[in-house]
Amino acid sequence: MALNANILLYDEPRKLNTKASEEYVHVRFSYPDVHKKWDGWVPVEYRRTGVSIPVEDHQALEEHLNHIYAQMHPSLYPKWVAEQDRLWNATRSVETKETFNILKDGRWHCRNCEISNPNFARRIQDIKEMGYTVATHINYHCPVCGNRRSTRLMLLPIHRVELAGNGYETWSPALRNRIIRVLGSVDVYENTVSRNCLPDHKFSEIRWDDKTKSENPETMSDDEIRDKFQLLTNQRNQQKREVCRACFQTGKRGVIYGIPYYYEGTENWDPAIPRKGKEAERGCIGCPWYDIAAWRRHLLNALKEAHK
Ligand SMILES: [Zn+2]
Ligand SMILES: [Zn+2]
Repeated sequence: MALNANILLYDEPRKLNTKASEEYVHVRFSYPDVHKKWDGWVPVEYRRTGVSIPVEDHQALEEHLNHIYAQMHPSLYPKWVAEQDRLWNATRSVETKETFNILKDGRWHCRNCEISNPNFARRIQDIKEMGYTVATHINYHCPVCGNRRSTRLMLLPIHRVELAGNGYETWSPALRNRIIRVLGSVDVYENTVSRNCLPDHKFSEIRWDDKTKSENPETMSDDEIRDKFQLLTNQRNQQKREVCRACFQTGKRGVIYGIPYYYEGTENWDPAIPRKGKEAERGCIGCPWYDIAAWRRHLLNALKEAHK
């Protein structure tokens, strides 16, 4: 996939926010059909939403920018704002809401002269924790207030990425960190240790019902964690969601790395198994995406057997 022709990727080094270990690229999005342009920074290293694009991976960058570009089409903005307003109306955090209201136009705002909240850092952290993507330009020389070491911020009007998933999942940051620790920070897709991986429920949420709604108690044992979760980057997690949705709709299970191997069952979802609810989990076993590490283990065993 090539970069959308309406995206200008400036030939500039990545912008760094060393305080938050974030990195951004400077782009200009043109929307000729509505005669609008957006000039801004798009995060390419952004731990909170699991975005992590290696400098040399041009294809991943192009896909990422195309995806953000599509979400930021000005015609989608009214719907986006309406959704956010609904969400904020349900919160009691008045101060954070004020800060969000300043940022929600998707443009740069100076911390010093526009967002003069004394708990500015806390407010931004809360907004990020809600799954918003915010670019931070540190040591910014503001031409309006003259501050040479201000910070300016830009919130991208795109989907919130809730690390905890789809709202069924309710885990605290402490539990999330514990899950990552118990699972050794191993990204099971890449089979490497990664600082960007996040817990993924092996059993896809699309097959949950109200009774499957899990509470993820803090008291979960390490073994329960190993049973229930694996770690993926947010990008892989999104990919898995799409695979699981397609499986749910078509009855064809997923494939990984183009290898149609299933350690239990076949490429077809067993029609004898209920499609939704606790029982449905049996139908996922054997699918590579369900438990990638188990699938790899089975595949390696099968290869060993074949060479005996
Ligand atoms: Zn200023
Ligand atoms: Zn999940």
